[in-house]
Amino acid sequence: MKIDIWAEAAKEAASRAAGGRGSTALPPQIEEAVAEASRMLEYRGSCPLCGRRLDTRRGYYLHLTRVHLEEISSLIRSLSRGLAEGRREGLI
Ligand SMILES: [Zn+2]
Repeated sequence: MKIDIWAEAAKEAASRAAGGRGSTALPPQIEEAVAEASRMLEYRGSCPLCGRRLDTRRGYYLHLTRVHLEEISSLIRSLSRGLAEGRREGLI
């Protein structure tokens, strides 16, 4: 079975956003995008994507992966594209 790297990256970002430690070894250009996405989505008691209150980090993680996995996956895709372009242009 082919592993969807973007879905894996999105799950990893959700896990870190909810306060978990990174567990998956990701390719460096995706790793940067995952780190950035998890900072943007960092747990603050409610979901930054839809505003729903989540009382626990565990609940937040489950919410992110059940409701927003597709959004997080495309966020990471565009972040990693942006990072790659910045690098080409010598900005990073
Ligand atoms: Zn939400």
